[in-house]
Amino acid sequence: MKTDLKTSFIDHERIYDYLKNTSPPEKEEVRDILSHARELKGISFEETERLLLVEDEDILQEIFETANYIKNEIYGKRLVLFAPLYVSNICRNECLYCAFRRSNKEIRRRRLTLDEVQREAEILMSKGHKRILLVSGEGRSEGELDYVINCIERIYSTKVGNGEIRRINVNIAPLEVEGFRRLKESGIGTYQLFQETYHYPTYVKMHVAGPKSDYIYHLTTMDRAFEGGIDDVGVGILFGLYDYKFEIMALLQHIRHLEENFGIGPHTISVPRIEPATGSEVSINPPYAVSDRDFKKIIAILRITVPYTGIILSTRENPDMRREAFKLGVSQISAGSRTNPGGYGEKESGEQFSLGDHRPIDEVIRDVCELGYIPSFCTSCYRLGRTGKDFMDLAKPGLIKEKCLPNGILTFKEYLMDYASEKTREIGEKLIEKNVEEIPGEKLRNQVRIFLKRIEEGERDIYC
Ligand code: SAM
Ligand code: SF4
Repeated sequence: MKTDLKTSFIDHERIYDYLKNTSPPEKEEVRDILSHARELKGISFEETERLLLVEDEDILQEIFETANYIKNEIYGKRLVLFAPLYVSNICRNECLYCAFRRSNKEIRRRRLTLDEVQREAEILMSKGHKRILLVSGEGRSEGELDYVINCIERIYSTKVGNGEIRRINVNIAPLEVEGFRRLKESGIGTYQLFQETYHYPTYVKMHVAGPKSDYIYHLTTMDRAFEGGIDDVGVGILFGLYDYKFEIMALLQHIRHLEENFGIGPHTISVPRIEPATGSEVSINPPYAVSDRDFKKIIAILRITVPYTGIILSTRENPDMRREAFKLGVSQISAGSRTNPGGYGEKESGEQFSLGDHRPIDEVIRDVCELGYIPSFCTSCYRLGRTGKDFMDLAKPGLIKEKCLPNGILTFKEYLMDYASEKTREIGEKLIEKNVEEIPGEKLRNQVRIFLKRIEEGERDIYC
């Protein structure tokens, strides 16, 4: 299928025109938008576009403060943790920024057997992970989806002591509607796919061969996912390929398209910045590298615009940037990651890109605790069927604070009991104590205390 840009719902001309002919807002206008944002209902996409144009450092600071306020009000002191599990780096696409692209001869290719997938999952479980993101290149074989579904079944049915994976999100190549139906039946949480760049000319330049080179097919993937019954989708932009302002404006158009057609936007937005990948010139010198300052601006503006949508940051970022990003709105992070198939069990090359944060999970958790955040492994919404529109409807009146923080505390307690080093346990227990005190309402507070006691006595997997 060849792409016709006219059938795309990303209105390039409108964005070009806006970015070329609109002046940045005055301080007063920004303040009006920010006071609107503080009502915690999100702001209009037109208001977001105004914020994107802000370059003045003082005004930017006010945007950061507002994002921080929203983050604290809605998410409190909680950060969800997950680990990626790469099952295959065999790929038939040619994305110029990625080490897995088919012409790259510098990495060893490999698709894990189900036993190897199980081994990797066991390692993650034995470190305390409960949520994973299954990642794969786009293989050639007919049975690609069967393979992924078999991996999911194997992981869900594996247990190590108290360890188990309770939620598998997936980041795999686009499927047809029927494929998504099967994927949903296999029990996935979120289906993730990044558009990488919404800018058509850049997209064509960066994706030179394979199915992914079809911009429209890639862009309409989430439509097919919703049609196939998946109700949690995660979108993303690979920052560095094109002007971030264009990308955010286009992302808003994508969100609007999904809301209008399916009644719901994305469950998460990922914000990867390009990292150096083996033999990839583009990844070493990205054409539109995003500075730390602009990266913070992106996170803050997203948090203000869609307060109830998760923002995901990966191990691509170094610990200092991660700390900054938590303050501004990131709600999920990966920890202790490897980006090569088999990477948790073995030391070898084949990585997708190099990582900025090499620390083991226990160290990341300690750091997160020292910053005052509760690391959460919670999966209760998904397991109680609070997904898609149900999640959004419940989230808005305050579910996140009333359910997510208590459940985050309970899963963190499990981690401390089963996996933490002594040092982390000591810091973690104090943090739990402090956070329980702050739970709103005596009834809920007491319930959490009772549940904590039950976990101490050996019970697992209890949630509010
Ligand atoms: N093959 C599927 C796809 O491309 O959608 C899913 C797996 S792919 C490994 C997952 C994501 O890795 C891509 O969507 C891309 O954004 C990201 N990625 C690729 N190369 C990268 C690089 N050099 N730095 C950071 N992220 C990269
Ligand atoms: Fe393959 Fe995905 Fe890498 Fe592109 S980004 S080369 S599709 S693994």
